[in-house]
Amino acid sequence: MKKHLFLLSIIVLIVLSGCSNHCCQKPKNVIYLIGDGMGFGAVSSLLLSMEEETGFEQAPVIGLSETCSANNYVTDSPAGGTALATGTRTCNGFLGVDPDSIQLESILKKAQKMGKKTGIVVNTTLTEATPGAFYAGVTSRKESYKIAEQFTESGVDVAIGAGLSAFINRPDSVDMTAVLIEKGYDVYLDWKSVLATESEKFVGILDMSDVHRRNKKSNTTASAAEGQEVCLAAQLAATEGNADTTRFSEPTEYLHKACTKALSVLEKDAPKGFFLMVESAIIDGYGHNNDSEGMIEEMKEFDQTLKALIAYVDEHPNTLLVVTADHETGGTGVAYKSHEVNQPEGLHLNFSTKGHTGTVVPIFAYGAGAEKFRGIFQNKELPGIIEELMK
Ligand SMILES: [Zn+2]
Repeated sequence: MKKHLFLLSIIVLIVLSGCSNHCCQKPKNVIYLIGDGMGFGAVSSLLLSMEEETGFEQAPVIGLSETCSANNYVTDSPAGGTALATGTRTCNGFLGVDPDSIQLESILKKAQKMGKKTGIVVNTTLTEATPGAFYAGVTSRKESYKIAEQFTESGVDVAIGAGLSAFINRPDSVDMTAVLIEKGYDVYLDWKSVLATESEKFVGILDMSDVHRRNKKSNTTASAAEGQEVCLAAQLAATEGNADTTRFSEPTEYLHKACTKALSVLEKDAPKGFFLMVESAIIDGYGHNNDSEGMIEEMKEFDQTLKALIAYVDEHPNTLLVVTADHETGGTGVAYKSHEVNQPEGLHLNFSTKGHTGTVVPIFAYGAGAEKFRGIFQNKELPGIIEELMK
């Protein structure tokens, strides 16, 4: 009997020692970072252009995600976002609803039901497809006025992004920023106020024309591509225009600092933890524009955000960071030579399309529960895994 007990304790010790790092723990907090259009070509362009170690190389767990929508091998951003947010594949063009137009419940909403605080940080409009998939339900991404109204019902504690016009220049003449204030939010339209605020419930709706500087230059290329999606991210600069006080001192300061700000709000008084979704949206625009230099620059900025989030997880090991893409854009690859515009010295990217592709995209996971993301998944499986880990 004693011998059996001894063997049992040895087995228990072996099992426990295998789970000694935070990989095997259940996360209290989840950060879901989505690179719009960030396929292997985009990640390769970063890995090959950086001398120092990238955030991607620090992730202990790597997986693959098949990004199909319900009706096409090649998804658009609304259907891709919906799969990543709700666990259901829908038709291209649909956002937050299933192929029968029935409203779906996102992982953000489920986190709220679990008592977690929630946040959204994007470098595009708050009503764009990817963030919208976490709170909205429409059959066309173009219904940004409706999505803005649904945003006011989202219940998030903090949101930082762009897209003021959908909130104030509306067919129904309702000022949705006033609705947000009625609901107890502080609303800021400039970056300095976002950085300075001590508010625990706020929405920052910023002018990001500086952040989208390169897309503004090359947007006509994407617009001219007949039949191709022209992402709102790429059009933002042309449609926004606030006062000079809203400008960023340096455009590349935005996304990682906005994440750090949101995390400082979410971690306060959060006994059940938090769920934060982050979208780096502009990678997609450079893929559409077949812009090598822009894509490499943008991936370097993405890496800055990724490293900031990894540092947060290191300081808060009860946190899970999941990084993936809604789809690949541009059919981007590293090639011997390229005839594309803005070709940087040394590294040559080629593009096979100005649209999205159905090529699998990477998943990188870091922190508590990360090992669950090792393997090949369908995009719709990811929110279910996150939900199980959060329970
Ligand atoms: Zn796109």
